[in-house]
Amino acid sequence: MAYRVTLIRGDGTGPDVVDATVRVLEATGVKFEWDPQPAGEDIMAQYGTPLPQQTLDSLRKTRVGLKGPLTTPIGTGFRSINVAIRKELDLYACLRPCKSFEGVRSLYRNINIVVVRENTEDLYAGVEFQVGSTGAKDLTSLIRREGMNVLDAEHAGFSIKSISELGTRRIVKFAFDYARQYKRKKVTAVTKANIMKFTDGYFYEIARGVAKQYPDIQYDEFLVDATCMRLVMRPEEFDVLVLPNLYGDILSDLCAGLTGGLGIAPGANIGEHCAVFEAVHGSAPRYRGQNKVNPTAMILSGVLMLRHLGETKAADIAERAVVEVVKEGTHVTYDFKPRRDDPTAVGTKEMAEAIAKKVEALKVHA
Ligand code: NAD
Repeated sequence: MAYRVTLIRGDGTGPDVVDATVRVLEATGVKFEWDPQPAGEDIMAQYGTPLPQQTLDSLRKTRVGLKGPLTTPIGTGFRSINVAIRKELDLYACLRPCKSFEGVRSLYRNINIVVVRENTEDLYAGVEFQVGSTGAKDLTSLIRREGMNVLDAEHAGFSIKSISELGTRRIVKFAFDYARQYKRKKVTAVTKANIMKFTDGYFYEIARGVAKQYPDIQYDEFLVDATCMRLVMRPEEFDVLVLPNLYGDILSDLCAGLTGGLGIAPGANIGEHCAVFEAVHGSAPRYRGQNKVNPTAMILSGVLMLRHLGETKAADIAERAVVEVVKEGTHVTYDFKPRRDDPTAVGTKEMAEAIAKKVEALKVHA
């Protein structure tokens, strides 16, 4: 049987890292029927939209996607396509494992943290009001009426933070189910509930209720500022973190930094009916078409996809192949080297080829 998977190559360096990942995934022997679909800045002119309906339809049909990074212009232009895909398909759980790799320059060893970020609510929900808009005027009246502490409500933009019972219950349940499945010991919920009592406080209230259903897994809570400090000082104390959207976004980059950076940080966006696998990093547009960037994060996202499909043996082999190639350090991209202009660095394609060859060799001995 071949798995039908929607393939979005993405913008900038996306096609380089996605092609590299396809090479490695196919080397495992698992059969795929790729369904290539357009999305992103580059296809705007041709399709009149960065996210054509056919791409969403394909994802709904295949229920699994492998996606390269997509560019979002800052401040102007269209809203994030990544956020739109997550919203359209209700991919509510963002999974970002952060693991130390031998051979990667980083501040710490033995980090093994999994960040579970809520993907649909919070300040990311896009409930924003421009200065002078009707919504902003309504909020200005509310602020005046309630005597809230806003310096200049007449000339202010507003963004609404929403934390719901359903949204919180399902993300915390996801974190505990993940912990149970992968034999993790602890889930830590992270918020700023001391200040945002009605939103983050509510997140804790719901999380505590869910935690009671998992007596085999330890549950604790930390404030987001304290968590940042502890992550830098004693990262080994953390196991699975579960967070509302914005804190999850920030802390998953922090955790990626602890293990060696975006080049090795994989991710997945998972919902009830569909899952999309993508690296944490963006489209790194300045390296576009240069066969330069590190394919590891995208390949490890492919490994997460194999696990999601139940192809555990293939996933273990592919992950081991990545670990060995990175540890050997002879077929790795520039960012693994102490100097960016190291002449011994190889390109994206060459590193993927070395990993694919390693997969094939490991398969023989498996
Ligand atoms: P970025 O992740 O593209 O780049 C940040 C830094 O990391 C740059 O120095 C870049 O060269 C480096 N980097 C990124 N990926 C790398 C890799 N695989 N190997 C080696 N180095 C790598 O972040 P950015 O510059 O803030 O964003 C660029 C674009 O990507 C923006 O339009 C942003 O919106 C978009 N973006 C998309 C996604 C996504 O599709 N999921 C995620 C983040 C950012």
